[in-house]
Amino acid sequence: MSDIQKLSAPVPPGGTIGILGGGQLGRMLALAAARLGLKAHIYSNESDAPAFQVSAAHTMGWYDDEAALKAFAEQCDAITFEFENVPSEAIALLSQFKPTNPNAKALMIGQDRLEEKTFVRKLGIKTAEYAAVDSASDINLAITKVGAPAILKTRRLGYDGKGQAKVRSADETVRALESFKGAPALLEDFVDFAFEASLIAARGLDGSFAAYDPPENIHGDHILRKSTVPSRLTPAQIAEARNIAKRIAEALDYVGVLCVELFATKDGALLVNEIAPRVHNSGHWTLEACAISQFEQHIRAVAGWPLGDPARHSNAVMENIIGDDAANWLKLAKGGGALHLYGKSNIRKGRKMGHVTKLSAKS
Ligand code: AMP
Repeated sequence: MSDIQKLSAPVPPGGTIGILGGGQLGRMLALAAARLGLKAHIYSNESDAPAFQVSAAHTMGWYDDEAALKAFAEQCDAITFEFENVPSEAIALLSQFKPTNPNAKALMIGQDRLEEKTFVRKLGIKTAEYAAVDSASDINLAITKVGAPAILKTRRLGYDGKGQAKVRSADETVRALESFKGAPALLEDFVDFAFEASLIAARGLDGSFAAYDPPENIHGDHILRKSTVPSRLTPAQIAEARNIAKRIAEALDYVGVLCVELFATKDGALLVNEIAPRVHNSGHWTLEACAISQFEQHIRAVAGWPLGDPARHSNAVMENIIGDDAANWLKLAKGGGALHLYGKSNIRKGRKMGHVTKLSAKS
């Protein structure tokens, strides 16, 4: 069998959505699937994956175990994933057995910062200036092209600031590249942005498109801390952000929720920082502030259902609970917001343990 499987009809209630990855995103996807009468089957390599606790079925297996992946596929009607570092070979394999979305191309582009930026630029969409740095001999040319200060990022397997270093000179860039232990990298202009925002949108199996109101995002130590809607984006910038996400989704023949992370520059431009081919932390507020959350929207899309209305009925502020903050769960529970704890057994520095969303009247 080598053909890619496509959904010929929506997965009916009672059907099973397979989810690769068992973190908090998988957990919230499983809960959303349950609301629609669908079952979630989680595949994860962690024995205490947070999503196992709330799903109808789970498999513990490695992402390169072809026999285990095939057995998992046989028990699902449609398959998706919750993190972009799943090997694209696993998605290519699963898609031979069951409809798997987002597709392998979207995953491949989301995994490689160089492919991603090249793809976005080809669509005529702006990004920060960048240059590939495969080895130390590329550094002088890259600095000439990009300027300094800049950020050196590994092309692959970076998230929440892992595999990133701010550099001010060629010497610093050499040292940063050495610390990446030979991993191919990308030098990026350091953008002195006005603020960061993200556009979360869904594309359905029928090509329909639904975008959420873009939140404004604040990061600390490269980890998302806070998302606020409405953002400071103007109506024209919001329309532009939607258009950017729509063109990306169409070019990828995308099915599911995707997030486009943006820098809003001081002169009003929008630069694409990253594409996440999945539900996103900056969209957690949609659980309370929209009738249809990003998680339900994603399940609807990958199950071949009609997309729901992404309209926001409230203003919202979502704050992550990171590391030791989770020890204050009782205080957080009294804080008046909607508290989400992800069921992670160990608190670790920098680990996302939960989040709180506070709503207010829509403006
Ligand atoms: P990333 O892993 O690329 O999403 O980066 C995480 C965070 O680091 C971003 O949300 C920004 O706050 C910061 N960052 C990444 N790239 C740049 C850049 N080129 N210029 C300025 N800040 C950046």
